[in-house]
Amino acid sequence: MSIVGCPDCGKRISSKARICSYCGHQLGEATEEDRAVFEARRLRDRIYRLNMSSYLVITVFLAGFGWYWWASAGFTRMPSVGPFVVMGLASAAYLLVRFLLFRARRDRKAMREKARMSSELRRNL
Ligand SMILES: [Zn+2]
Repeated sequence: MSIVGCPDCGKRISSKARICSYCGHQLGEATEEDRAVFEARRLRDRIYRLNMSSYLVITVFLAGFGWYWWASAGFTRMPSVGPFVVMGLASAAYLLVRFLLFRARRDRKAMREKARMSSELRRNL
């Protein structure tokens, strides 16, 4: 076994890999299962990144709220528009991230159903 560069994305992968774990480029005879494993890993990584993004966005919102508290001297006077812009953008970003998370989780569920069905199929054949 040696390390070679993927012909598609150029990342370093095992010469025995049937599918590039970075871009999904097929090398040799990749089976349906190899492809399913690749898609499942990519989905898992996507869900992880989206979760991290949602924490980041919440942090940005709290920072905006902290700015609002500080700029309004403890809510006693009207602050500049800055804190509202930060909180507004963070809220919009949060909704977007939650929507993408919802879609990714739905895809993962569909993938699990499919995997369960195919093992059911194998058992019945
Ligand atoms: Zn690749």
